[in-house]
Amino acid sequence: MTIQPEPSKTIPDITLYERRESRVRSYARAMPRQFNRAEAVWMYDNKEGRYLDFLSGCSTLNYGHNHPVLKQALIDYISADGITHSLDLHTDAKATFLRTFENLILKPRGLDYRLMFTGPTGTNAVEAALKLARKITGRQNVIAFTNGFHGMTLGALACTGNAEKRGGAGIALNHVSHEPYDGYYGPDIDTAALLEQRLSDPSSGLDSPAAILVETVQGEGGLNAASKGWLQRIAAIAKAHGALLIVDDIQAGCGRTGTFFSFEDMGIKPDIVTLAKSLSGMGLPFALTLFHPALDQWEPGEHNGTFRGNNHAFVTATAALRHFWADDRFQADIRRRGDLLAKQLERMAERNELTTRGRGMMRGIDVGSGDIASQITKRAFNRGVIIETSGPHDEIVKVLAPLTIDDDVLAAGLDILGDCIDSVLATHLTVAAE
Ligand SMILES: *Cc1c(COP(=O)(O)O)cnc(C)c1O
Repeated sequence: MTIQPEPSKTIPDITLYERRESRVRSYARAMPRQFNRAEAVWMYDNKEGRYLDFLSGCSTLNYGHNHPVLKQALIDYISADGITHSLDLHTDAKATFLRTFENLILKPRGLDYRLMFTGPTGTNAVEAALKLARKITGRQNVIAFTNGFHGMTLGALACTGNAEKRGGAGIALNHVSHEPYDGYYGPDIDTAALLEQRLSDPSSGLDSPAAILVETVQGEGGLNAASKGWLQRIAAIAKAHGALLIVDDIQAGCGRTGTFFSFEDMGIKPDIVTLAKSLSGMGLPFALTLFHPALDQWEPGEHNGTFRGNNHAFVTATAALRHFWADDRFQADIRRRGDLLAKQLERMAERNELTTRGRGMMRGIDVGSGDIASQITKRAFNRGVIIETSGPHDEIVKVLAPLTIDDDVLAAGLDILGDCIDSVLATHLTVAAE
């Protein structure tokens, strides 16, 4: 089988979507095709076009589309009339997931977290984390970081940096201080020291925080990867100032950076962790808020919801944990592929005098402007590579290939991306010179 994408040339009629679906749709605008099937790293449209998925549902499909082991587990469960919806009742599927998560994820890492099943999307897990931190500390303020992205509901949106997204709230987004992330003022300024100074100064105007909410690698904010030292200083600051450390691992977790949790090699143990996106392993909605047992101060039903714990997702998540996380092989694969990705991006960057960002299989290239980045992703899509941008000006072309991608397919896709970067920048330079 060829490892090359084969995009279809036919642009379908999209008048149905324009007539009946809200204007709020976004990804579909850059990729005007109608998809009908997906397998591993490939998505097919209804004209038999074949696309290489370097977006992976924004890191929701870390194990690729319709992984056969996960798919079979779900088919078997449904065929046996397994429970689909059960509010938060005890089910076999939940018990198996809890036990598997305990044995394969928590115990080997020396972590002791309670699992709170929240509403099904990432922003629900963030809301629960914020509520819990405010309840426990009795404080209102939360420290989040520049370029952070935490979701679209009001509490999580208040912690999100992006002005356009914030504007959608229609009301003031309060009770959050946005502090500079690692490297925000360049490599020579330690923004953790700035935060420490402000928190220690009773006259700085910075209210004592209930929590410090951080992504170890900022997914939507431009693939800024915090250093180990900075994260450790932030963890120490949280502790010293009575704030809970929340790591939002919704995009960077589930293996994306090379380990199950993105903070494992960073020498920190967060008080609270949020997971969603790739947690179900198959793209089913499923979110979790994890916290130390001493922090489990909820009253029964105090935070509620109809879709908390999705039994189909329990089944596929359990299958994913057993298949990928029972030993170290998958992690070694991710690291090798992450190195390949880094090297190939480095070469593209070097020959075009650009810089790269990120960690593990969560990397990208800063092409200087959102306009150039969108020309590059458009050209890549026309050659059959599904890829998106991130960053404050959408100037980072972001590679989020499935973690399971074959090395040669990864290399072939990156070759296409490299061509697109070279050719867009060449035209841009010619136009600029004229
Ligand atoms: C995607 C994302 C969220 C929000 O998750 P949704 O499922 O879109 O609600 C929160 N935090 C981070 C880091 C994310 O990448």
